[in-house]
Amino acid sequence: MSTLQDHLIKATAAGGRIRAVAVRTTALADEARRRHKMAPTAAAALGKALTGTLLLAATLRKSGRLNVRVAGKGPLGGIFVDAGTDGTVRGYVGYPELDLPPRDNGQLNVGGAVGNTGFISVTYDLGRQPYTGTVSMVSGELAEDFTAYLANSEQIPSAVSLGIFVEAGEVKSAGGLLVQLMPDAGDEIAERLEESIRSMPSFTAMEKEGLSLTAILEKALAGFQVDILEEDQTVQFACHCDTRRVLDAIRVLGEAEIRDMILTDGQAEVRCHFCNDLHIVPKEQLEQLVS
Ligand SMILES: [Zn+2]
Repeated sequence: MSTLQDHLIKATAAGGRIRAVAVRTTALADEARRRHKMAPTAAAALGKALTGTLLLAATLRKSGRLNVRVAGKGPLGGIFVDAGTDGTVRGYVGYPELDLPPRDNGQLNVGGAVGNTGFISVTYDLGRQPYTGTVSMVSGELAEDFTAYLANSEQIPSAVSLGIFVEAGEVKSAGGLLVQLMPDAGDEIAERLEESIRSMPSFTAMEKEGLSLTAILEKALAGFQVDILEEDQTVQFACHCDTRRVLDAIRVLGEAEIRDMILTDGQAEVRCHFCNDLHIVPKEQLEQLVS
């Protein structure tokens, strides 16, 4: 697989007592940016959330989907992301046009856009009854918030690193990694892992150096025997909205509303929140709905 393509790899280290996932999301984060016509700060926030949600999905043992809702109180107006264990992801923010001045270090002010108060909630739909875990926001920078979610709601000591680099209005690099300590790891491994994560460069710095995901994971887990699992998964922006779902949504509006649409507009226009595609339902199909 080309190293430039978006993909995800998994690894174990220290004889299975450490689990790790790394993902490159440059193309899908830029596709989201393009579809939603996003300003750099908003694009960076959504890109990080798409990446973090894919990392969470990669930790699931069953196949299914999960939704992440970031309800920060900042001016971005919240983020909603839906990802599947199949590597598909989609999402949107409240105000895609939001842009803030960069921080002193030149980085985009994602924390300021998202807000450091509010909550992050994750809903799992894995075939049984869906369930949701919720924790308070920590910083709004999202990596810290995903880390807090895993520590508090899932009770797994984890480190999440998310990186995104936007230049000339386009996402030039995006991705992240997740490292988790299994319950039987012990203090010695925990301390060594903490040390190697602390001394690790940022994801964006490693990506800009041209490191592959394998090399990035090996750097994050320096000093440990790392076993990269064979399966290399493609990840991509994908939405499953279609005409049938659009018709279902219109049907819910009720007969009077639909008749009004037929009279005033002669058709219905429905824009998908997730992918921003416009679905046009012609008059004939609307008439079928009310007949
Ligand atoms: Zn859609």
